[in-house]
Amino acid sequence: MNADIYLGLGANLGEPSQTFELALALVGRFAKIHQVSKLYKSSPFGFSDQPPFVNAAAQISTSLEPLDLLTKLQFIEGALGKEVIRKNGPRIIDLDLLIYGDRVIEEQDLTIPHPGILTRDFVLRPLLDISPDLSHPSWKPKTLKSALGGLQENFIRESPEEWNLQL
Ligand code: ADP
Ligand code: MG
Repeated sequence: MNADIYLGLGANLGEPSQTFELALALVGRFAKIHQVSKLYKSSPFGFSDQPPFVNAAAQISTSLEPLDLLTKLQFIEGALGKEVIRKNGPRIIDLDLLIYGDRVIEEQDLTIPHPGILTRDFVLRPLLDISPDLSHPSWKPKTLKSALGGLQENFIRESPEEWNLQL
């Protein structure tokens, strides 16, 4: 089993917390879910004329290799009804593979660590909930905490919500 794998969850259509619960139940068929962050509500990123986003992160372990894991995540997105109308536009679910241990991957369909991690508070804060000291060999600055301190813009608008997740 490969541990220290982190997923990002996002949604701004439907009932995000319910969709996340369904998504994680499906992820649980091929991975063990170790921890899940609180829910963070934030202003839309990139394209402002759309509902606020809800974001969370999960720490999992699985024996699936990164590309196979991404394929499974995309299958779950499809099963939950994801349709991408435009980049950074409204969506019922977004499942991103944020970190896969120490791996660095730069392929056409998969970049790991996910390039948005260090610049988006709605990715950083959920990850910090789960792993306050998380770092990665390819990061400069080295830790999530230091990246959070240097952010130019903050998107999170409200205190995070606790989540009564039934896994
Ligand atoms: P958006 O970029 O608007 O969020 P999607 O979530 O549908 O759109 O993702 C677009 C593409 O990002 C996918 O086709 C996927 O191959 C690619 N991608 C690259 N790296 C990653 C990653 N680490 N996690 C998830 N998707 C990734
Ligand atoms: Mg995505």
